[in-house]
Amino acid sequence: MTDKPLGFDTLAIHAGAKPDPATGARQVPIYQTTAYVFKDADHAARLFNLQEVGYIYSRLTNPTVMALAERVAALEGGAGAICCSSGHAAQIMALFPLMGPGRNIIASTRLYGGTITQFSQTIKRFGWSCKFVDFDDLAALRAAVDDDTRAIFCETIANPGGYVTDLDAIAGIANEVGLPLIVDNTTATPWLCNPIKHGATLVVHSATKYLTGNGTVTGGVVVDSGKFDWSASGKFPSLSEPEPAYHGLAFHPALGPMAFTFHSIAVGLRDLGMTMNPQGAHYTLMGIETLGLRMARHVENARTVAEWLEADPRVEAVTWAGLKSSPWHDRVARIVPKGAGALFTVAVKGGYESCVKLVDNLKLFSHVANLGDTRSLIIHPASTTHRQLDEAAQVRAGAAPNVVRISIGIEDAADLIADLDQALNAATV
Ligand SMILES: *Cc1c(COP(=O)(O)O)cnc(C)c1O
Repeated sequence: MTDKPLGFDTLAIHAGAKPDPATGARQVPIYQTTAYVFKDADHAARLFNLQEVGYIYSRLTNPTVMALAERVAALEGGAGAICCSSGHAAQIMALFPLMGPGRNIIASTRLYGGTITQFSQTIKRFGWSCKFVDFDDLAALRAAVDDDTRAIFCETIANPGGYVTDLDAIAGIANEVGLPLIVDNTTATPWLCNPIKHGATLVVHSATKYLTGNGTVTGGVVVDSGKFDWSASGKFPSLSEPEPAYHGLAFHPALGPMAFTFHSIAVGLRDLGMTMNPQGAHYTLMGIETLGLRMARHVENARTVAEWLEADPRVEAVTWAGLKSSPWHDRVARIVPKGAGALFTVAVKGGYESCVKLVDNLKLFSHVANLGDTRSLIIHPASTTHRQLDEAAQVRAGAAPNVVRISIGIEDAADLIADLDQALNAATV
């Protein structure tokens, strides 16, 4: 082998995995264990002091879970990663080392509905807050930054409308104001976009979606680029000052590009406990092996179905950014050159009533709250995922009452179109 960097599909199969040292097992074993025997008291002390890296207790690290963390870090081009119990856990774990009471983040108005609720309501219990801004209005984003702002947050391809964020422009502002940019790359996956190449500091994933790919697990990942200088501004004392919760260790700069990752394991997972289980990690490792193959088919099917829907008189609008009619079409070539993902919304003639009938009449599409499955999925966000929002916020989030959200699977596109055709007939007459 040469030193040439390995390709995406090779990393998707090999990164983080090596034959098991004890048995030679080729596939990553499911290390279904809580604890690991120390060689002696000195070994145990060295592990607890971070003088030696090794396994202590599975709330912190587990070999199956670590294989997944390494694999996702490799696919995203990051320095390190940690796995969590869900995508929402990953978001809290990404913010935890950066935040404190009275601090805020600035997030895009176009986000997964659950994230809007987490950021607008739940994080207040920690004394954190969030300002929501239209990320196409760069002046408004810049103006929203204040002395207490600690991060900027957006999604590469925003749920539910398939809006493509101009990551380069947002990273430019984050850089200008000296703040980390956190990008939720769930709906794009590292196959379509590596946010770190566009200037992201941290990348978060719901592994529940495309990474696993078949709707079997709940999981999350936080990838650190290793590029942010946590000590420069004095704004991130958990990382740059002696950490009282970890023997007074200043993680940055002592641990260099691994400062965030080690802090997230040694303090975050240790004390918040939002750990991924090894069985879940196994399913996600299996899923990632075919990520490239699946995403190519997801995107191809999305194009076929979106073009068919757009040309249909029963449909008012389709938001897939791969369509020329999309206001974000120009960003596709730069941000997600292999395709605009497989998630979009469809405005159906007849509004709310027709949306509900469409959902109820589909046979192949499943009516579920999930996305990023091999199966095609549909939901009416205004009555479900975005139900917590008032109508104005629903519209801002791309989840107006007259739209359904579709997650296109990898079935035969002709069958998906036939199913939509019969259900649209039932919904719009
Ligand atoms: C599903 C999802 C989440 C939350 O992930 P869970 O695994 O359900 O906790 C966050 N962001 C996006 C874009 C998602 O699709």
